[in-house]
Amino acid sequence: MKLSPGFCGTIGKTPLIRLNKLSNATGCEILGKAEFLNPGGSVKDRAALGIVEDAERRGLLKPGGTIVEGTAGNTGIGLALVGNAKGYKTIIVIPNTQSPEKMDLLRAIGAEVQPVPPAPYSDQGNYNHIANRLAEETDNGFWANQFDNVANTEFHFATTGPEIWDQTEGKVTAFVTSIGTGGTLAGVSTYLKSQNDQVQTVCVDPYGASMWSWFKHGHLDFDDGDSIAEGIGQSRVTDNVAKAKIDNAYRLHDRHMMCILKHLINEEGLFLGASSGINVGGAVKVALDGGPGQTIVTVLCDTAQKYMSRLFDQEWLTENDLPPEDLSIDAMIEEMKAEL
Ligand code: PMP
Repeated sequence: MKLSPGFCGTIGKTPLIRLNKLSNATGCEILGKAEFLNPGGSVKDRAALGIVEDAERRGLLKPGGTIVEGTAGNTGIGLALVGNAKGYKTIIVIPNTQSPEKMDLLRAIGAEVQPVPPAPYSDQGNYNHIANRLAEETDNGFWANQFDNVANTEFHFATTGPEIWDQTEGKVTAFVTSIGTGGTLAGVSTYLKSQNDQVQTVCVDPYGASMWSWFKHGHLDFDDGDSIAEGIGQSRVTDNVAKAKIDNAYRLHDRHMMCILKHLINEEGLFLGASSGINVGGAVKVALDGGPGQTIVTVLCDTAQKYMSRLFDQEWLTENDLPPEDLSIDAMIEEMKAEL
């Protein structure tokens, strides 16, 4: 029999998908790591498993314990499912600006959900600080601390990086992704560079975040604009971000992200969330900047299912500065070229 040893054994080993039209249009191989096929539905299943198993090894998480985490949602979903499979309770502190679908899903899988008003990291009311305090107050509580717990990066170094290297047979020339905690970018960038230091590692940032500012200019001062993308958009150098080895960075407009999401649904059959649109847009920018012949890998983080009430509600989109627009992929590519 060829069996998977429980839920946790099904995390990772995701396919690497060739994005046909964008590859043909740019003369590059543009490849998407299908993290949305993880059992909890996102790339964050990896961080959840990595953090929990690391805490078990260190004796920080004991049988019957409670995992507490501040999360935009996907890490919470991963932690709750890993927790259920391993016998831990989960308490999730989530900014109340996140999509209702994610909160419903978290409750349905048994997590205790505590929505809180958004607050900057410098404020003790920030969801991460609340989660930290809650873990201290909880009997046998463990704060997962995904932003600064580098077990997150280490799990990507041990799994996502080697999978991409093997799936491309070492031919990958560039890796590009956006940043929430920075775990994916740090783990994969350091692994790929350990195999071939010529692999170009790239951050793509939504507007309103300051990672582009950090990698391009060495400070966090440029954080203008805004984005509807959830789960990404970082404004501080987390301990995971600090581990990343990055050569270049781009910013991507939400208009271009929406154009890519529609294209991926209609022409590739891929139904993906906003961060995946930002990531694929970043891959197109790497392709246009460096020219044909590159093999560029990015991350398809989750599906659009968790964002249906937003991504497919034109009224909501218009309120968020995304009026109806019929931008073709070819026209988007021309606009991107003009920006380079
Ligand atoms: N996309 C989505 C949808 C996410 O939830 C996250 C994590 N919050 C990311 C991308 C970013 O991943 P990482 O935390 O590894 O930077």
